[in-house]
Amino acid sequence: MSNNLVTVAYIAASALFILSLGGLSNQETARKGNLFGIAGMAIAFIATALSSQVTEYTTLVAAIIPGAIIGAIMAARVAMTSMPELVAILHSFVGLAAVLVGLSNYLQPESTLVGVEATIHEIEIFIGVFIGAITFTGSIIAFGKLSGNIGSKPLLLPARHLLNLSMLGGSIFLGWQFMTGANGLQPLLIMTAIACVLGVHLVMAIGGADMPVVISMLNSYSGWAAAAAGFMLSNDLLIITGALVGSSGAILSYIMCNAMNRSFISVILGGFGEGSSSSASKGSQAPQGEATPTTVEETAELLSNAKTIVIVPGYGMAVAQAQHAVSDITKILRKRGKEVRFGIHPVAGRMPGHMNVLLAEANVPYDIVLEMDEINEDFPDTDVVLVIGANDTVNPSALDDPDSPIAGMPVMEVWKAENVVVMKRSLGIGYAGVDNPLFYMENNQMLFGDAKQNVSAILSKLSESSNAKSATTTEKVLVKA
Ligand code: NDP
Repeated sequence: MSNNLVTVAYIAASALFILSLGGLSNQETARKGNLFGIAGMAIAFIATALSSQVTEYTTLVAAIIPGAIIGAIMAARVAMTSMPELVAILHSFVGLAAVLVGLSNYLQPESTLVGVEATIHEIEIFIGVFIGAITFTGSIIAFGKLSGNIGSKPLLLPARHLLNLSMLGGSIFLGWQFMTGANGLQPLLIMTAIACVLGVHLVMAIGGADMPVVISMLNSYSGWAAAAAGFMLSNDLLIITGALVGSSGAILSYIMCNAMNRSFISVILGGFGEGSSSSASKGSQAPQGEATPTTVEETAELLSNAKTIVIVPGYGMAVAQAQHAVSDITKILRKRGKEVRFGIHPVAGRMPGHMNVLLAEANVPYDIVLEMDEINEDFPDTDVVLVIGANDTVNPSALDDPDSPIAGMPVMEVWKAENVVVMKRSLGIGYAGVDNPLFYMENNQMLFGDAKQNVSAILSKLSESSNAKSATTTEKVLVKA
């Protein structure tokens, strides 16, 4: 394929990636956004494979075919609840790729580069490997924390900020040695090892409640790592795509920080300053009192008698895969003339937009799915709130316990409603590891058990009563006739 044709294909792919990002920003257009992304990637892939830069097809095929098979199997098998781990581990691959591209670029330099161009290329290699190594190990730790293999509590080493600063300072010094010394490989490899340790340390220091920001931040890092690889390989499309991922990840991190009332810098530096996850170590007071258990029958009756209902889903709904039953309940209740809406916390579940994806999959209408800011004021006028598998995102201690690890994080203020029913299996903690005083409040009842089983049981109760009602109406009509 001629260079001009490759450039045209790259421009088309870049435009499709931008359209894809635009589409993904809204639930109604997300599907189209995905298709744009797939089309862009297919064009990018074919154009790159057919470009004059690629000469060794045996190696390419040997790498792509097993990669594609493994990727397809992983994507087909992954449960929705494990998506965040999969995303984290894929970020780590991008980081590793940037490290390997940097090292191989250094070991087999482009002979055409001289003078300033060669210097710039070396800087690209050094920075690319640095960002790639942090992304690689940071994402592996994020994977461990999300999958539960590594505890969600922050690792707060003494003088950790000094440690981070010394690793950064050491890397800058090694960069100078790399640029000026005769043997650049040694400082490059030492810096790679330091950056790997830095990646581990930065993410280990972040507590469970701040993990959403880390995910989006590592997403951003993986974009910059890809862009750096693009510079090293002189591939414009990789630079554009990397910059799109890097900047959109950075914007998402900023939005997440705002939603959680965290300072971006404090999260990145792992609990630096006020209101950060450092408070996790202090621990908060265990809530007092007794939780009131309820039954499926009572919950169905409560819903039948309510006029306004808000459903607040959380990670437990994803684990139980209860979204279809929840959607069916919503249909029945709306048919009966009740106002049913959903309230979604920005960090509910285990990845940005987790709940929105599940509800969209279950065909819940978009216009009744509201964000936390849109619905929080309406709780005092709500008859019943059904909390399905949510915990941290409905925890009042975030607002009234300054020692809580989630202190300062805005939450769904469900306890302001007349009645709250929390559906989960026990009084156990959520991802941030904090007790929840909501469970012991007077207007709250606990419906213990698996969310899917309980929601399905409520659904059959509601359907039974609907059928009974329509049978009575038919009888009345027949009697009148
Ligand atoms: P939580 O993780 O706080 O709580 C989920 C609850 O679901 C658990 O307490 C559990 O209680 C319950 N549960 C689990 N399985 C079932 C089941 N089968 N049926 C019923 N209940 C079940 O969820 P939230 O969504 O409220 O909060 C999300 C948390 O995850 C926040 O701390 C957030 O910071 C963090 N996080 C979010 C990310 C994101 O991007 N959204 C990324 C990383 C972390 P029990 O065991 O008693 O059933």
